[in-house]
Amino acid sequence: DAMPIAGPKKVLLAAPRGYCAGVDRAVIAVEKALEHYGPPVYVRKQIVHNVHVVSSLEAKGAVFVEENEEVPEGALVVFSAHGVSPAVIASAADRGLRTIDATCPLVTKVHREAVRFAKDDFDILLIGHEGHEEVEGTAGEAPEHIQIVNGPHEVDDVKVRDPEKVIWLSQTTLSVDETMETVRLLKERFPTLQDPPSDDICYATTNRQVAIKNISPRADLVLVVGSANSSNSVRLVEVALEYGAKNSYRVDFANEVDESWFEGVATVGVTSGASVPEILVQDVLRLLADYGYADVEEIVTAEEDLLFSLPKELRATLKAAG
Ligand code: SF4
Repeated sequence: DAMPIAGPKKVLLAAPRGYCAGVDRAVIAVEKALEHYGPPVYVRKQIVHNVHVVSSLEAKGAVFVEENEEVPEGALVVFSAHGVSPAVIASAADRGLRTIDATCPLVTKVHREAVRFAKDDFDILLIGHEGHEEVEGTAGEAPEHIQIVNGPHEVDDVKVRDPEKVIWLSQTTLSVDETMETVRLLKERFPTLQDPPSDDICYATTNRQVAIKNISPRADLVLVVGSANSSNSVRLVEVALEYGAKNSYRVDFANEVDESWFEGVATVGVTSGASVPEILVQDVLRLLADYGYADVEEIVTAEEDLLFSLPKELRATLKAAG
């Protein structure tokens, strides 16, 4: 048998990949709420940004809405992992909604930083994607103190009251490298710009980027399983390309993988975003095996064992129910 020019076919599987602790907790929260209260359980916004997760929960009786106004008065609503602004919490109270807050504790941490630095009258530069739910929630903690900086290209537009009293915070799911570049440029303008008390980009985002950076230089193709509105998934495609993958695509499901992508490809890197169930990755691996990429090597760059306890409202209810 002649060896194909590109070398033997192989898969490099990134680890860590897939579910983070915040997503796991949010999905379980909706499942437990459905079990305990029965359907319908309303969920404001997609609980996590994944098509499969949302449709699976819908099939079990979750009803996804955009705003509290769509939830019948007095009903139960779950707030998504991306967090909510105080205005959203207030509007739920106005409608007499019962709430379960599935905001990731690592997003809540950024909210607390925003509140604290707003109280100290800092100008807060929130690096993140305008319009993303997490950014809306965080910015809503102190709208008069926070301005959103979408990336390096927006640094020149930033205006502050006192250049000596400025801090940057960030969305949890950004590209680590691009964020550092934004910060570098901001510091050229505001040399005393303060850093967040701890990293706002979360461990899961960072670890998934490190894993794919490790694989990308060796990969002819990197497949990222994740949804189009999943910030951290979309970043993984960008990072793969920056770190030398010849090509990279994001897919929600194995059936979106296009046979033409494999032309001349020996090594395929595979990873998944923080909101992606492992079953979807296994589907992709099965498809790859069908295409002759059956040799899978998992490349582990970090171990993760973080677990968050369920939202407190749910904990109390489940405890009372025995
Ligand atoms: Fe929390 Fe990070 Fe997961 Fe977002 S990606 S839910 S911040 S752990």
